[in-house]
Amino acid sequence: MGGYVLAVDVGATNLRVGLVSTNGKLIDVMRVPTPKGGDPNAVALRVIDLGRKLMARNNVAKVEAVGVGSIGPLNIREGIVVGTPNNPLRNFKLKEPLSNAFNAPAYVVNDCVAAVWGEYWAGAGKDVENVVYVTISSGIGAGAVVDGHLLLGKDGNAHEVGHIVLDLRSDIRCGCGAKGHWEGLASGNNIPRFASVLASGWRGLKSEAYILATQGKLRAATLFELWRKGDVFATAVIKELEVINAAGIASVINVYDPEVVSVGGSVALRNPDFMSLVFGRVKEFLINREPELTLTPLGDDAVLVGAAWIAIKPPEHLLRIQSLDKVHKFASKR
Ligand SMILES: [Zn+2]
Repeated sequence: MGGYVLAVDVGATNLRVGLVSTNGKLIDVMRVPTPKGGDPNAVALRVIDLGRKLMARNNVAKVEAVGVGSIGPLNIREGIVVGTPNNPLRNFKLKEPLSNAFNAPAYVVNDCVAAVWGEYWAGAGKDVENVVYVTISSGIGAGAVVDGHLLLGKDGNAHEVGHIVLDLRSDIRCGCGAKGHWEGLASGNNIPRFASVLASGWRGLKSEAYILATQGKLRAATLFELWRKGDVFATAVIKELEVINAAGIASVINVYDPEVVSVGGSVALRNPDFMSLVFGRVKEFLINREPELTLTPLGDDAVLVGAAWIAIKPPEHLLRIQSLDKVHKFASKR
């Protein structure tokens, strides 16, 4: 089938829309800050605007489908974002307005679910049937393809692995309110607080990272920079983060038994030296045979490419869940 789809990456910070050929080639992409207010349909309206611009400037009159990878949580049946902590709009529709505007089917999945589908078709998982995508970014999440089957869950929120409990004794609260969660300790947004808590256990250290951490000012990027310069406190924090991320990734492997784990997200992609240390420690926590561990070959485009593949090759069960005329059939099983 020669044609085009629109791929949409609805992030906490950025909104990206791509025009992609149905053989998976990214033709053109536009990026804007994600709308955070005004019209309750602001996000969908912006996607429609960008999609139309992309189509016009590439002389494309019609797209076959629209694929969306979005921040969650989702109501996957209706393709809406419900109560997201990452956007003040909280609740917004994606599937219905996009499908209407482009007169084409629109499919909405969680961003990491989209990304793993991209890995499965065109990335680190293209030669295997079992692949997991993990993002270590402002948050932590995952998507999984098991036996060639994209896992979705009852509401499409099957992979909240960032909220795996990694430290029962921790007093550090995650954004979700619970203590000791992987994301609460090690995501880009939470590393500064984690460092400050560690700093409170030390006294009078001659370290730039330590001083910044005691003032609550040690940003994640600065921590990694100072670690590379040999800063003693930064080194101690990084050692802790190594173990936490290794245990988190190992837990995901123990659950899904993948052949490949592909890791993306800004914290991972900007710090490949750190990630190779993390990968080196994963086996300390494994019961399952160790899979191939790699940074995503799709880089920053992982969600966008995945959203394109959701549109090009929508999984059978997603079609069943998101096609409106079959909603009742699906629900009547119980
Ligand atoms: Zn949590």
